[in-house]
Amino acid sequence: MDRLAPVRKKEDIFPDNRDTPVGLLLEYHNLDREYKTYTQAELLVGMCMDNRKHLHIPDNFSYIIRSGGANLRHSEFKVSYAIAVGGVKNIALIGHNNCGMVNLVERKEKFIQGLIENAGWDQERAEQHFNQFAPMFEIENEIDFILSETRRLRSRYPKVRVAPLLYIVEDNLLYQIEEE
Ligand SMILES: [Zn+2]
Repeated sequence: MDRLAPVRKKEDIFPDNRDTPVGLLLEYHNLDREYKTYTQAELLVGMCMDNRKHLHIPDNFSYIIRSGGANLRHSEFKVSYAIAVGGVKNIALIGHNNCGMVNLVERKEKFIQGLIENAGWDQERAEQHFNQFAPMFEIENEIDFILSETRRLRSRYPKVRVAPLLYIVEDNLLYQIEEE
């Protein structure tokens, strides 16, 4: 958590982010900046599906792809669409603390039992399902994952700016992740 930079005033926004769509996201969400009217998206947000998070942003401002752990590896076509057709040149990749995708293995039994009880699956199918997909979504550490995913997206889409952010569920604010 020592790699997080809070945004409590506009000057806290990293120069690289300031006055970009990512800077605007930080101002809208953290600083209650007055909403502008948008007719076209300026940003793509990648964030976790977790129910504890909600962004304060104007209508039409951003595409949003939600996926476990803000992992966009399996949403690539949607990312490409936002860039190619939506004309978006900036991505905010937003992880969050206490993410359920961290240490997924610990929740294996709960996952399997839940599929059996809540969805009507049988034990074998539920177990196979977990074993097949858990490795794709497992995250070791939220911040490290967001940084590695940021690097991957930058090399995949070299003309697109990607900013790594973290949402803290206790204060519902966005933090910038410091990169080396
Ligand atoms: Zn999560």
